[in-house]
Amino acid sequence: MYAEVILPLPLFSTFTYSVPEDMVAEMAVGVRVLVQFGKKKFYTGIVAGLTETPPGDFKVKPIMSLLGADPAVKYPQLKFWRWLADYYLCSIGDVYKAAIPSGLKPESETWLSINPDSEWRVESGEWRVPGGEFQDAVPKLTAKQQMVLNAIEGAKNKKLRLQDIAEETKIGDVGNIANRLLEMGIVEIAETVKEKYRPKTRRMLRLKADVAADRAGVTRSLFALVNRSRLQEKALITFLDLTHALTSTDGQASLSRETLMEKADVGSAVIKAMIDKGIFEEYKETVSRFKTAGSDEIMLSPLSPTQQTALDGVRASMRQKQVTLLHGVTGSGKTEIYTHLIAAALADGNQVLYLVPEISLTTQLTDRLRRVFGKKLTVYHSKFSDAERVEVYRELLDTNTPRLILGARSSVFLPFSHLGLVIVDEEHESSYKQFDPAPRYNARDAAIVLATMHGSRTLLGSATPSIETFYKTQTGKYGLVTLTERFEGAQLPDVEIVDMKDQRKRKLAQGIISQPLKEATEQALAEGRQAILFQNRRGFAPVVVCGRCGWTPKCPNCDVSMVYHKYTNMLRCHYCNASMPLPTLCPACGENAIDIYGYGTERIAEEIDESFPKAKISRMDLDTTRNKDSYQNIIEDFSGGKTDILVGTQMVTKGLDFGKVDIVGVLNADTILNFPDFRSNERAFNMFSQVAGRAGRRQTKGKVFIQTKNPENPILQRVQTHDYAGYYEQEISDRQKGYYPPFTRVINVYIKNKDQRLAEEAAVKMAEAMRQVFGGRVLGPQKPFVSRVALYYLQTIMLKVEAEASMTKVKYILRNIYEGLARDSVFRSTIIYYDVDPA
Ligand code: ADP
Ligand code: ZN
Ligand code: ZN
Repeated sequence: MYAEVILPLPLFSTFTYSVPEDMVAEMAVGVRVLVQFGKKKFYTGIVAGLTETPPGDFKVKPIMSLLGADPAVKYPQLKFWRWLADYYLCSIGDVYKAAIPSGLKPESETWLSINPDSEWRVESGEWRVPGGEFQDAVPKLTAKQQMVLNAIEGAKNKKLRLQDIAEETKIGDVGNIANRLLEMGIVEIAETVKEKYRPKTRRMLRLKADVAADRAGVTRSLFALVNRSRLQEKALITFLDLTHALTSTDGQASLSRETLMEKADVGSAVIKAMIDKGIFEEYKETVSRFKTAGSDEIMLSPLSPTQQTALDGVRASMRQKQVTLLHGVTGSGKTEIYTHLIAAALADGNQVLYLVPEISLTTQLTDRLRRVFGKKLTVYHSKFSDAERVEVYRELLDTNTPRLILGARSSVFLPFSHLGLVIVDEEHESSYKQFDPAPRYNARDAAIVLATMHGSRTLLGSATPSIETFYKTQTGKYGLVTLTERFEGAQLPDVEIVDMKDQRKRKLAQGIISQPLKEATEQALAEGRQAILFQNRRGFAPVVVCGRCGWTPKCPNCDVSMVYHKYTNMLRCHYCNASMPLPTLCPACGENAIDIYGYGTERIAEEIDESFPKAKISRMDLDTTRNKDSYQNIIEDFSGGKTDILVGTQMVTKGLDFGKVDIVGVLNADTILNFPDFRSNERAFNMFSQVAGRAGRRQTKGKVFIQTKNPENPILQRVQTHDYAGYYEQEISDRQKGYYPPFTRVINVYIKNKDQRLAEEAAVKMAEAMRQVFGGRVLGPQKPFVSRVALYYLQTIMLKVEAEASMTKVKYILRNIYEGLARDSVFRSTIIYYDVDPA
């Protein structure tokens, strides 16, 4: 028997391996296998097919081992992967790499470390797995497992690559052993970039005494123990109160240490003293993301009559059409309508995928959906550590019970069963498109395909639908349901366009804040209301220049200027993250003449802190949301009124729902309006309308200020009048004239080389070869706006094919073209990749 194996490599085909006799019985499509590739490397692959026919005349290697007997993918995942690889012009290995968490695919390059939540009892060679106790079901380790653990323990930094472990221990099937240890939770993938997943266990408290045996006696002795300490007494009473320890029958009631400290309002020292006195004992408990708090009941809010009509409309449309668009103004209650559809799908025994474009949105929606769907909700996104992702992935693999999965784009890769409904909220968002690395997929479009493969329907939602999506509703391909009013008659905000040239001339603007924005914000704050200020740039100041000789700091690896970050006092490249200290003297002329100009979010936060001394300000951008909880903290503080002004990058423009925001300011509209590509109008209209949509979402009418040097720009007029229809008409006619999507499909070809001349030469040759087949559909090559990134010089070629062209055919042609060129030495060091449907 032979197996076709998908490997996590950017190579176009699958690879054939022979199946050893003893594995034949268990071999199946979808199982994970460990295979050797090249001389020394090994990878975990996925079996994509089995055959009795031996491959041509080359020698095949045998599969090294089978990792777990059950498939790691469910139908139709492999089919979905193939579609992604075909449509987005990448390899199926690229898709596999993105789809399966690292913990499920150990390979020779994988770094392993010992899970610090597990413990080893040396004398007996027993391991306590996280959350378990030594007494119960302790894994007795095999000699080989012990050798692997010893090797990791003995390594520098207590982590080791699998290939090094293999070398050191001379164990042949080290991958298989590592996989067992990963499954048992004794070792984990050592992550360097992502934050470690810690809150897996929770510290719990229970009474040390056996309450069930003698209630009265125990109560007396407990209170004797806390004798004279008021705080300890308070903690004890709170504990007994909350756990019902004295009345419950099992007498083993427990509470997390954290909850007790919070509810009793005592510090850690108090609890520690009580443990020392023998009142409490502490133990650890595993917290699974699946079994989090929440009820089993589903609790829906009743819909308004308008919303009910829209819901009925969506249901009717979904009976007819594969895809339906819910076009509802901001704050119309689209989320509420989704919850009714989700509840019905769950009741039918289905799973539901609810996609949102940003992690910040999962944060806010988690609470809202937890209240409705309780334990049936699972959240998934890329800020999760690999261990957490493995846990969610496995749990879905093992279950087919009704479940709502809320997630960002990577959740399309989860192993669903009975996927009954897919919702893509804020479907217009460009962050659904992954740019790097491959697969460069759009999660919205992929989700539609996934739903179709499951035989289910997709609902897209947006206040500002993408041009492509709205066009499809006009041609009848998609259904359309419209909601034109906000919930409970809340009004859309007034939008004022502020002419910054005029403000400057009349010296009205103070720094970057115009006078009308300042006054309105002052008034809102005085009334206990809030404001959101949007600036599409992070850091302190984007322009650093020597006033004497004109020197500016360029990134050594990229063709961009570096941005000054004040908090770290560093210059930083926003493309490759290179950094260097801000020089005090100009490195070119030696003068003390370095000036900074322009505004990033960091500077704005600092400036408004001075302008509004009483206000509390928080900032949400890439720099303030590096760890997993930071989104939640920022959003909760703002929701709860602990902060008054939220300054941020486009993260603040998307879908967030705050009740007390009266004022929204777009501080500099011009960089967004002037961005040079065919989507710039669409991007600008969406961004400004969406950020405006954060204002006045309840009773009071909001006010939006858009600051610009081009107040007469027609897009701004459309935003001001909330005129989606007018904007769409103009844009679709421009697209038709320019032969752009949705009338064509754009594929950008990227050509990269560390040598500028080679990059240019390769691009010219590639474009020539493409022209021979595609003719006038080929534009370029040209140097992109940022023409060097992370040491590579870039060239792009744009290919516009007919909207209905077969992508499988396009992929085939492009691969042939490339293969025809590959012999040319210019292409040896050149990297070529494709971006289909660029966002
Ligand atoms: P959208 O997603 O269309 O921008 P949301 O669903 O966030 O709008 O609704 C805006 C606000 O109005 C939310 O705070 C939501 O809780 C509230 N809301 C909308 N519909 C209802 C309803 N039927 N019952 C209670 N609250 C509602
Ligand atoms: Zn200088
Ligand atoms: Zn750089």
